[in-house]
Order: sequence, then C-alpha cells, then structure tokens
Amino acid sequence: MKITDIRATPVSVPLEAPLRHANGCHWGRFVRTIVEVETDSGLVGLGELGGGGESASAAVHGLKPYLLGRDPTRIEELRFLIANPTASLYNLRTQMLAAVEFACLDLLGQHWRVPVSEILGGRLRDHVPFASYLFFRYANAGNGAGEVRTVDQLVAEARALKAQWGFTTHKLKGGVFPPRYELECYRALARAVPGDRLRFDPNGVWSTEQAVWFAREIEDLNNDYLEDPVYGLHGMRRARERIRMPLATNTVVVGFEQLAANVLQTAVDVILLDTTFWGGIRPCIKAAGICEAFQFGVAVHSSGELGIQLATMLHLGAVLPNLTFAADAHYHHLVDDVIEGGKRAYCHGGMAVPTAPGLGVTLDRERVARYHEDFLRLGTYPYDQDPLRPGWAPLIPNSRWADPADARVPHVPA
Ligand SMILES: [Mg+2]
Repeated sequence: MKITDIRATPVSVPLEAPLRHANGCHWGRFVRTIVEVETDSGLVGLGELGGGGESASAAVHGLKPYLLGRDPTRIEELRFLIANPTASLYNLRTQMLAAVEFACLDLLGQHWRVPVSEILGGRLRDHVPFASYLFFRYANAGNGAGEVRTVDQLVAEARALKAQWGFTTHKLKGGVFPPRYELECYRALARAVPGDRLRFDPNGVWSTEQAVWFAREIEDLNNDYLEDPVYGLHGMRRARERIRMPLATNTVVVGFEQLAANVLQTAVDVILLDTTFWGGIRPCIKAAGICEAFQFGVAVHSSGELGIQLATMLHLGAVLPNLTFAADAHYHHLVDDVIEGGKRAYCHGGMAVPTAPGLGVTLDRERVARYHEDFLRLGTYPYDQDPLRPGWAPLIPNSRWADPADARVPHVPA
C-alpha cells in the first residue's frame, strides 16, 4: 500500500453554547480540520486536527512531499520523517503527525479488517467511562438557551447531563471567575451529585497561594484530582508540596522529556494523555507504560474533538491497563458531528469502543460539505479571546477575572 494523496478540509461545527475557559472562549462552534490520507489500494484513512482553518490546510498539504509514495504501515518511521525532534526546532509538526498517525492506523485497520484497538494490543474494555465535562457557558444568542453562569444553572446542567447520559464523574472547567466564586460553584456541584467523583481544572491560572487555599477548601470532597492549578512543572511541584490530593496535568507533561523530568523530580501525579498533543495514539500508549512503571495515574484528555478524534480517544481508552479515571470529552457540547449517523451516543456514563475496521468511523459527506461551507462563511475565531471582553489578556497568575454578575449575551457569528 502506498500513499497517493493527502487532503485537508476545515469545518466549523456548532456548539450548544459558547464555552468559557481561562484563556477565552469557544465562540459557539469548533473549527477542526479533517485529514484524509488516500492510498493506491483505494482505502482512505481519516485524521483530525484542532483549529487552524486555512493555515492548518496549508500545513497538511505541505506534508505531501514527505508522504506521497510512502507505505502507511511504517508508522514509527513517520515520527522521524515529519517530526524529528531536532528538526522540530524549526518546524513544530507534532499535532500534524498525530493526524497522519490516526489516518495510517485507520488504513491499517481497514486493510487488515480489524479495529485499531486490536492493532494497539487489544481491548481491555469495550466501554470507556467519561466525565460530564461542565463549562461556564454564555447563552446561545440564537435561542437564548444554554447559559451556565450562576450556581443554580451549573447544578441544573450537571443534573441534566447525569440524568441524560448517566455520568458519575464530573469535571468543572474553571479559571473564568474569581476563585472564591468558583469554589462556591464546585461545592454546590458536589452537593448536587452525592457519591459521584469530581475534578476541577482552572487551566493553570492561579498563584500557588490561591491553589493551596482552594485545595484546602475542597479536601473533604470526592476529588479524583486537581488539574493544572498553577502553570509550569516547578509551579506544580511547589503546589504539590502543600496540597493533599493528586495533581493532574495536560499542559506541563505533554512529551517524553517532560515525563522524564516528572519521574526524576515529581510535580504531577496523573498524566492526562491527549492523542493530538502527544503526536498520536501510540505515543500515548508508550507514555502510559512509563506511567505504569512509576505508578503515576493516567487519563484520556480532551482538546476538543469531532468523531474522528473521539474514536482515537476511545481506542486509546480501550487498551490502557492503568486507566483508573474517567476520560474527558467536550463532545456532548456539540450539536452535530461530521461522521455517518451524526453524534455518537453515551450510555451508562461512557461510550462504546468502535468495533468496525480501522478507527470505525465514516465521514458523512453531506455533513462535511455543510460544515465546510460554514467554515468558508464564518472563518476561524480567536479561541484565546473572550467575545465580551475585547483586548482582554489573562495574566498568569490571573487577577483579571470575569464578573459572575455579568449576564450579557455575546452575538457571535453563527
Ligand atoms: Mg486541563
């Protein structure tokens, strides 16, 4: 089998409502780039890349000289071909390598007629548990629905998601409002879902002192871990000395050099593995092996996904022996997907691992065309800006919090 072409199609898929986070906001939609790797066998492998739009497409097309004529089964060599660690000083291609790795694994699975999980060691579970990933949200300007800003709105949202999908783990994305207000929200969430597991993630925007204070205030709750309370390996190490619960990260251990540093001088207890940030599913499995040897926890991270990336997370979650935490996904905030059948459904607080050959997902060409048109009409959006605070830049540690009494609705293009 030889690669004959690689295509990139940017899409814009609507969210129920704009998702607020420490650095800004997802402005009511996700922009993702669908990557298709074609071969002379007639098979097409699927990959997915976060954000980017036109620039992501140009970067993917720029891989053609490296990939055309190559055998897609030689996946390990791809790392040195397009993301060689020293060449990467000049060209950071790790996330593109991830999209190509997804597509090559998809091709192998289709060619051998087995699901990707069987190429990766075989499924240890058929169902991957997920957390209800709760965000503070602006209201949808189109229908006025979906706002999560007050304590009551957050509690109602958590209860609704639990009733609909059966989640028993709940993650709250913070770092938006003053820490004391977010503490009130998190404690109310804990009261609303007694016995369930919890996690909180302010995206590294607190000072060490704020982090230590917040951690002490939640010590009595059923916390899986506190995620990225401060920024930096050294900041996390200093916070960890004074915090009595596991710390997790998806920001400061996202590669093997950082993982080695964390083994030698531990700053983080739980490594959140992201199939895009680490350059593919296989590097995540390698990292999980190192974590297993050193008895660090692992979980599956979500960097915002459509159905192709979600499939990579499910195959990863299926094969990790040391997955003791629920996975994260933004997925339930989407109103649609680009795969056949539309959005995959959760059941019993998790999702079934695909068993069809390859990644087990097929593009719905009509949906891809519709959301590509939307991308052409709407373009990208500044993920790291808040539509109602133009020019705002969060400090780290942050002191420029949003106001929880501000009930305005942003009129973002949709
Ligand atoms: Mg995080």
